Amino acid sequence: MLALQGDVREHLRALAALGASPVTVRRPDDLAGLDGLVLPGGESTTIGKLAVTFGVLEPLQRAVARGMPVYGACAGMILLADTILDGVPDQPRIGGLDVVVRRNAFGRQVDSFEAAVAWAASGDRVPAVFIRAPWVESAGSTVSVLARIEGGRADGMIVAVRQGALLATSFHPELTGDLRVHEHFVAMVKAGADRRGPR
Ligand code: GLN
Repeated sequence: MLALQGDVREHLRALAALGASPVTVRRPDDLAGLDGLVLPGGESTTIGKLAVTFGVLEPLQRAVARGMPVYGACAGMILLADTILDGVPDQPRIGGLDVVVRRNAFGRQVDSFEAAVAWAASGDRVPAVFIRAPWVESAGSTVSVLARIEGGRADGMIVAVRQGALLATSFHPELTGDLRVHEHFVAMVKAGADRRGPR
């Protein structure tokens, strides 16, 4: 769990409830021996700057390039995106996810809201909390869309994606008490660990 800024505790609780053993990551050494990584919501510009200050941005980029399973929620989705619209100039990011995201896409009028979204991987509807959330404006051909907004002005906008070992949601499942999105990620991590064999 990247723990530079943002709602770290809620993710740790969700992961622990699913039987994972989460640890916090702030420095490059903390990445050693991890099977997967969660990037929390918060403020992507702040998390990016702190990642540079702590010398962990490039190690994170290498971990993504090596195929480590990574789940980015909200600001975490922005950090994973290859292209950020409405970012700040030279906003540090990890990248690797072939999407164009727009920060604060829902506009100031709808700062935050809760909705249920259809989760394509299982067909379930999952509750989703959006807080100054980004959306995905376009996604590359290797990216699967896992959820879209239904209805309203943002109808059809993409709010959850997966590309190989990378999972990203515009919303915060960790604030809903529903564990299904984290469950999906833990399954991805387990599948990755199985491929790598016992440590
Ligand atoms: N708007 C924030 C950003 O740009 C993301 C908000 C969130 O993570 N809840 O990073």
